[in-house]
Amino acid sequence: MNTELHTFQDLFDTYDWDEVRERSHHRSTAEVEEALHRAGHGKPDDFMALISPAAAPYLEDMARLSRKLTLNKFGKTIQMYIPLYLSNECQNICTYCGFSYNNRIPRVTLTEDQIDREVEIIKALGMDHVLIVTGEANRTVGVDYLASAIERIRPHFSHISLEVQPLEEEEYRTLANLGLHSVLVYQETYHREAYKSYHPKGKKSNFDYRLDTPDRLGRAGVHKIGLGALIGLEDWRTDAYFTALHLHYLERRYWKTKYSVSFPRLRPAEGLIEPKVVMSERELVQLICAYRIYNEHLELSLSTRERAVFRDHAIHLGITSMSAGSRTNPGGYAEGEESLEQFEIDDSRSPSEMANMIREAGYEVVWKDWDRALHAV
Ligand code: SF4
Repeated sequence: MNTELHTFQDLFDTYDWDEVRERSHHRSTAEVEEALHRAGHGKPDDFMALISPAAAPYLEDMARLSRKLTLNKFGKTIQMYIPLYLSNECQNICTYCGFSYNNRIPRVTLTEDQIDREVEIIKALGMDHVLIVTGEANRTVGVDYLASAIERIRPHFSHISLEVQPLEEEEYRTLANLGLHSVLVYQETYHREAYKSYHPKGKKSNFDYRLDTPDRLGRAGVHKIGLGALIGLEDWRTDAYFTALHLHYLERRYWKTKYSVSFPRLRPAEGLIEPKVVMSERELVQLICAYRIYNEHLELSLSTRERAVFRDHAIHLGITSMSAGSRTNPGGYAEGEESLEQFEIDDSRSPSEMANMIREAGYEVVWKDWDRALHAV
């Protein structure tokens, strides 16, 4: 790696969106075949070939290869998790999100007792990996709130992930010491100018601070970092290429850290914009397989935003992690649908229905893929 790089931003600034967009739409058949030959050891340019229109006729080959690589590395296992929304308060305006500050909706932040009730119900569903989600409201759901929530939740779960506002390195270190394992921070789009139009107000409008977040997580030693772009905002191939480039940089710099990628497709929500870009399910399959062929170690995660039948197939293609039984409103497990959801889900099966489907497909459900004791050896 270039030792002059201090953060991903130094590398990112050497690229031009339009040029990457042009290249990612115009790869040759020969480049696709070379990328397939380098399966498991690819470079970002191989990934670019695999997501290009030229790779579409190779989808069957890609699916077979992706399945083989996934079985070799992960065996027949699927990690399951359930989101736990602690607050829908948010001081940001994001044009695609139901929690946006300008949406006149009832705002809820769970108290300690309400958190306990949610935990009790989630545990009764049989789940052991929880993803804590909040909006961005530093006064009510700042790092102190998150720290006390993690301390409260920690004894009940094997694996705790977080999807909240970007934090400082020291804050991540504090939360990791309290038992936080994974942090998901999606760039939404790597198109710097368009990013501003989707995030016109609030701290999230700072593109650079968000772009630097995985570096802060890497330095803080958080066990696993999740990346992703919100599919539907800008050209998906260009955003996926920058995500893969980001990953390539992070894996070399923070090599002790594990990585995951998610594929959120824009879903309906209160006051939402229509997707600018529509990705077909066939293209989503191409993207999933491309990530696996590019990187055999990567955890690939698919949420309940996708259709049940699609999710059933995806476990045979390369997906290794899935949510189930999701309620995307705070207090949603104990109180049902009274407060507003962040977005509508599609696969509404319960965790036990999901677990049964996974087992019937011949896979084992796992809650975490490492052990702190082993990690310390
Ligand atoms: S995406 Fe996040 S920061 Fe933006 S409005 Fe929704 S909850 Fe707030």
